[in-house]
Amino acid sequence: MYPASFDYFQAENVEQASRLLREYGEEARVIAGGQSLIPFMKYRLALPKYLVDIRGIPGLSFIDKKDGCVRIGALTVHREIEESDLIRSQLPIMRDAAPLIGDPQVRNLGTLGGALCHADPAGDWGPVVLALEGRLKCVGANGERELEAKDFFVDAYSTRLQPDEVLTEVVLPVPGAKSGGAYLKLARRTGDFAMASVAVQLTLDEAGVCQHIGIGAGAAGRTPLRVPDAEGVVRGEKISATVLKEAARRLSQAADPIPDLRGSGEYKREILKALLQRAAQIAASRCKERR
Ligand SMILES: Cc1cc2nc3c(=O)[nH]c(=O)nc-3n(C[C@H](O)[C@H](O)[C@H](O)COP(=O)(O)OP(=O)(O)OC[C@H]3O[C@@H](n4cnc5c(N)ncnc54)[C@H](O)[C@@H]3O)c2cc1C
Repeated sequence: MYPASFDYFQAENVEQASRLLREYGEEARVIAGGQSLIPFMKYRLALPKYLVDIRGIPGLSFIDKKDGCVRIGALTVHREIEESDLIRSQLPIMRDAAPLIGDPQVRNLGTLGGALCHADPAGDWGPVVLALEGRLKCVGANGERELEAKDFFVDAYSTRLQPDEVLTEVVLPVPGAKSGGAYLKLARRTGDFAMASVAVQLTLDEAGVCQHIGIGAGAAGRTPLRVPDAEGVVRGEKISATVLKEAARRLSQAADPIPDLRGSGEYKREILKALLQRAAQIAASRCKERR
């Protein structure tokens, strides 16, 4: 199947991309790795008349650390995250997620920024960025602004980006000592989207009491889900089977998974519960490794 015809622009910088997006409004779309947009265009789920290709813009593909945060350029592909030593040492939860995305071809072309802007409810980066309390930098005609990940996702395949805005960078605070994170996903087969997924980022004190927790869930509703209600049960407590069971129950209450070929809503809720308990145990064990 071929996409409908479109005009194509190669932007040289973010300002030019934003100008083109403003000029052509709702009829224009950014294209980055094309791993989600091209299939959507082939199925006529997206019918942009103008594509603004941002892949050639210099300075949007990087992973570095500054002011206590890991910063990842929007054009950084999944494979670079998977192979980054900085990610492995500072944000192991991202190292969990990267190799679970699609197949090597998808990971070589698909970008972190594209995945977040595509906002697939079952995507892998949404829950991770939520659990890490990430921030998303975007640039539009009115200049630069930063959005918190928890405010970014509006609905399935819909974000708070304005039509003329380009996501440029994802900023992730590096958790301190005695912190650990884990991401778990259940898929029908390797490379498939999640039936359900859970990201847990924990900080424990010397006595093993939870000081901080971020929980993100995928395929748990129309957007990636942050679950403050479940986090509240764990914060201030030692990690135990009883505490995690109650957190899992609250996650399943907060979730409203979309029933589809990957499973019924009820089944996905059960998976979410199991994944939360396992991910939290792994995160807690990683806290002990990171002093
Ligand atoms: C076979 C297959 C399997 C896959 N499996 C998984 C999986 O298991 N888990 C998973 O999470 N994902 C999966 N994906 C999706 C993959 O991760 C994509 O790479 C990602 O969703 C989109 O990234 P992209 O760079 O290709 O974006 P594109 O397809 O180029 O763009 C996607 C959307 O984001 C917008 N956009 C892109 N970049 C920006 C930006 N910087 N600023 C503003 N808007 C932007 C575009 O306008 C478009 O609407 C799969 C894809 C395929 C084809």
